[in-house]
Amino acid sequence: AKARGRNGYAFYAPSMDGEGVERLRLEALLRRAIEKNEIWLAYQPQVEIDSGLLIGVEALVRWNSPELGAVGPDRFIPLAEDIGFINQLGGWVLEEACRQMKCWDLAGLYVPKIAVNLSARQFDRGGLAATVERVLRETSLPAHRLQLEVTESVIMNTGDAMQYINDLHAIGVELAIDDFGTGYSSLAYLKQLPVQTLKIDRSFIKDISTDANDEAIAIAIIQLGKSMNLAVIAEGVETVEQAAFLLRHGCRRAQGYLYARPLAPAQVLAQWGQNKNA
Ligand code: C2E
Ligand code: CA
Ligand code: CA
Ligand code: CA
Repeated sequence: AKARGRNGYAFYAPSMDGEGVERLRLEALLRRAIEKNEIWLAYQPQVEIDSGLLIGVEALVRWNSPELGAVGPDRFIPLAEDIGFINQLGGWVLEEACRQMKCWDLAGLYVPKIAVNLSARQFDRGGLAATVERVLRETSLPAHRLQLEVTESVIMNTGDAMQYINDLHAIGVELAIDDFGTGYSSLAYLKQLPVQTLKIDRSFIKDISTDANDEAIAIAIIQLGKSMNLAVIAEGVETVEQAAFLLRHGCRRAQGYLYARPLAPAQVLAQWGQNKNA
């Protein structure tokens, strides 16, 4: 059943039409995906631009469904949030990511930091700090090697954001603002929060050599980071020109296809295993 709402939006009754059925099927499959070992984490290297040294990895969740094929996180994360599955999924991601760090350690690859994405729903209920603390203890990963990524909109839209962030900070984990520049940018909150890193959103990096506005925004974020003593990392770096631009303007860290795609753990080991930095 598809109907035109008063404002002209189409909305759907979930029981009747094809899309509703499809969604229910997706939901049912997603709920069982963890126990069926269909969920896994890819890791995208973060590097120092001038030296190419590995400074960290970002964990990116993947779902290989036998029924549906590969489903992207842009599709199933919002669904997981809607159906109240995100805490389970997010908890699994956190544990798996920290466990993987231990595996690399044992295999002789020192990955300095792991970045894990947090969704709004994980962030806005109490108990996150306790979960993080437990996972760190169980995997014996030092807190400073875990970086949690939250977006500006999550921070701005969460009532007790400041308290939650302070709780996490007290444990010793790092905090990065993801997709910086795309949300409600409030510089006031930046000043008050114990944040260590700004991630320049990919959308500003993409057209850096052709779009003067994007260039200006990227430069402004780099300057802001510098003046507030925050690390700045650029996302979605695909070309040497983009990397050169960043370096020229004082951004020394990057993540993107130019360096590596999100990789399976064994690929990280194979490609970065010779890395001697610490
Ligand atoms: P994000 O956190 O902004 O992650 C960066 C996205 O950009 C990833 O897409 C990554 O594969 C992609 N990317 C990296 N380098 C490049 C590049 O050079 N060019 C282009 N075109 N893309 C690049 P992915 O893996 O599909 O993830 C999409 C989004 O899903 C993430 O955006 C994040 O918001 C969410 N997500 C992924 N894993 C998790 C998770 O474990 N928990 C939560 N809550 N969200 C997650
Ligand atoms: Ca992220
Ligand atoms: Ca991002
Ligand atoms: Ca994003």
